[in-house]
Amino acid sequence: MSRKTIIAANWKMNMTPSETAVFLEPFLQSFPEATAADIVIAPPFVSLAKAAEGLGAHPAVALAAQNMSHEASGAFTGETSAAMLGDVGCAYVILGHSERRSLYGEGDSVINQKVHAALAAGLKPILCIGESLEERDGGQLEFVLSQQLEGSLAGIAAAAMADIVIAYEPVWAIGTGRTASPEQAQETQAYVRSVLANLFGGKVAGATRIQYGGSVKPGNAAELISQPDIDGFLVGGASLDPTSFAEIIRASL
Ligand code: PEP
Repeated sequence: MSRKTIIAANWKMNMTPSETAVFLEPFLQSFPEATAADIVIAPPFVSLAKAAEGLGAHPAVALAAQNMSHEASGAFTGETSAAMLGDVGCAYVILGHSERRSLYGEGDSVINQKVHAALAAGLKPILCIGESLEERDGGQLEFVLSQQLEGSLAGIAAAAMADIVIAYEPVWAIGTGRTASPEQAQETQAYVRSVLANLFGGKVAGATRIQYGGSVKPGNAAELISQPDIDGFLVGGASLDPTSFAEIIRASL
């Protein structure tokens, strides 16, 4: 089953609108316009409009938000709806990132509501899952990942999985410089695919794109992407520099 590579930049709380414009100019010139991969940039909310302006109708680079409300509209001060993200030009939205889970108390039930709301508004969720080091060392890896997948994807129809990307991000590898080995990542991502097969059937699982995230850099991207169940990356720190993010893209093609 061939799956199109998808490489996403999670800028987290970095990059003002002005810095976003400065990033995009050299970045968009550093790889061929028609790449064999889908490329996604996820700036902070306030920089989305500037990014949309810089991207224009780029054939390969799409825009994502890093989070959204599960509510459609109303008295929810400080929140942003799926429709607002679509209107500003987002095609994707990152949901359930480990920082949202650990720092802002998001659990699978609210993440599930967000997945439903995103799909209803025509946004493609990049759904993040991943275990802590304690969970991995304690033999809980498979339990944690299957719970996160079952909880976050509850009530999702098999047909909707075509619009969902899974990002497997071991929490101990995010922002730590400690990458999962290609073998560790492959073994875990094959397990993730087997859970998807149980939930949605083998055909859907075989077509679902599963990214790896956790200290991906230009130097480790090629070896990671060569693994059969790694279909792309969610990149944090190394995506803040246009040269290093473009190198990761080139190494993955
Ligand atoms: C992330 O935040 O999704 C991430 C993978 O960060 P980093 O690449 O910095 O580890």
